[in-house]
Amino acid sequence: MATNTNVLVIGSGPTGLGAAARLHQLERKFGSNLPPYLLVDAAPEAGGLACTDVTAEGFLFDLGGHVIFSHFDFFDGLIDKACGTDTWNTHQRVSYVWMKNRWIPYPFQNNISCLDVDDQVKCLTGLVEAKTLTSTATSKPANFAEWIDRVMGPGINDLFMRPYNFKVWAYPTSEMQCSWLGERVATADVTKAITNVLNNTVAGGWGPNAVFRFPKEGGTGGIWKNVASKCVPQDRQRYNSKVVGIDVKGKKVEFSDGSTCSYTSLLSTMPLDVTLRMVGASLGEPSLSQCNTWASALRYSSTHVIGLGIRGVNPHDTKCWLYYPEDDCPFYRCTVFSHYAEGNCPPPDAVLPSLRRADPSLPFDSSPLPGPYWSLMLEVSESSSHKPVDSKTILEETIRGCISTTLLPPDAEIVSTYHRRIEHGYPTPHVNRDGVLEGALPFLKSHDIWSRGRFGSWKYEVANQDHSTMLGVEAVDNILFGAREFTLNYCSLVNERGKKYTDMKYD
Ligand SMILES: Cc1cc2nc3c(=O)[nH]c(=O)nc-3n(C[C@H](O)[C@H](O)[C@H](O)COP(=O)(O)OP(=O)(O)OC[C@H]3O[C@@H](n4cnc5c(N)ncnc54)[C@H](O)[C@@H]3O)c2cc1C
Repeated sequence: MATNTNVLVIGSGPTGLGAAARLHQLERKFGSNLPPYLLVDAAPEAGGLACTDVTAEGFLFDLGGHVIFSHFDFFDGLIDKACGTDTWNTHQRVSYVWMKNRWIPYPFQNNISCLDVDDQVKCLTGLVEAKTLTSTATSKPANFAEWIDRVMGPGINDLFMRPYNFKVWAYPTSEMQCSWLGERVATADVTKAITNVLNNTVAGGWGPNAVFRFPKEGGTGGIWKNVASKCVPQDRQRYNSKVVGIDVKGKKVEFSDGSTCSYTSLLSTMPLDVTLRMVGASLGEPSLSQCNTWASALRYSSTHVIGLGIRGVNPHDTKCWLYYPEDDCPFYRCTVFSHYAEGNCPPPDAVLPSLRRADPSLPFDSSPLPGPYWSLMLEVSESSSHKPVDSKTILEETIRGCISTTLLPPDAEIVSTYHRRIEHGYPTPHVNRDGVLEGALPFLKSHDIWSRGRFGSWKYEVANQDHSTMLGVEAVDNILFGAREFTLNYCSLVNERGKKYTDMKYD
């Protein structure tokens, strides 16, 4: 079957849905003067990486720790329109780093006062060294490792920054660039650090997500299902439609069932490396070699998301998410997912059998019993070059890690387990990244292909749900009106602390 449209959007994650919602908003304004559009996705339903899975026992798990915080009025208006305004829980972030068998409040670099005296000395002398290094430096830091040395010094680097960032990114900090940092990494202030240590005070509240909201029902994925059903007409969406090729000169995409769709402009939210290989294959040499070189230079890590449903009462009070830099567990982050919403667990009167105790050597009774229930969600990163992970053993290793870090007592009754591996999890801000993006994105655009989104434009600094939505919205305005794409091109302005962009509304 052959169809055609004007703006073809590939991918129904936040970027594609942002684009489609913007197109529908403009359609309501301009009626039939707006060119036709279509949203297609390989998956059976909307959400992309921001979807939520449900286990057979009724526990919800997002694909990693997703919380909503926004830099844009448009984004707030869109999700409020889709979900309503009274369907959210608002949480104060309660976040810690687990280190040397104790909790250090997040961000670590502002809470050196909570360390042993030996470690305090290492961190404070390191901060002073860093200050000296920065004041004599004649050039910008060449990579993330140098940035950490100059901003925080060797003490904080050795204890926290290097091991933690390796666990998150699955690449050494020396291979990562530092222009992405902005509001994503808290810097350290020597005076404040020394004052906090001397006064024995704790500093919290840093960063854009100190307060965040989360849906009462349906997890993060519920938001995007609502956007797809309430803000984009159903006849503009096609699921189970996997794009397997792009005929760049003929301006049509081919789907896995052999059907095609012609377009005037293509907005792709597929991973950029995938799009480049399709485009190269379609154009042939010399573009083929160029596209393959760009695709191979991009780096990403895969993410394993492990979920545990547990019988009993959550023993972790109001803790939201927790960081793990040490090697006593495979995960870098744990989210107490049941704390975000009651709807993330089965109701207390649901009757479920135990599957096991956390320590598998302990006996357990498998007769079905009622709750209450709580849950943990853990994330493990993987890269083929630096940090391989065995998919067959990672669930067991994670549960063992939960015991050794006191997240679970050995006799915890596990009633549900979940494991999903995401091939494209984190777009690595590799030292080569910007060179690739500066060549590849304009090249694709010269062929009427806008590659945008978390992996579409590969910029981690603008890869959260609010950013992704706006990448889609602004790409549409660029396609239709030639408007500038602010989020893509001015990442650090977008992320300026405390600022919200109010010039565009969703209504
Ligand atoms: C571990 C983790 C933690 C995160 N934490 C947060 C957070 O706390 N806060 C926050 O705001 N954001 C968070 N995010 C980011 C959030 O998930 C992304 O912003 C968002 O999902 C990216 O949207 P996207 O539309 O660009 O891409 P995706 O969500 O990846 O969507 C791309 C879509 O394209 C489709 N597709 C791919 N290939 C094809 C093909 N060949 N044919 C057809 N369709 C195709 C896919 O099926 C998918 O639906 C997190 C992400 C991860 C992985």
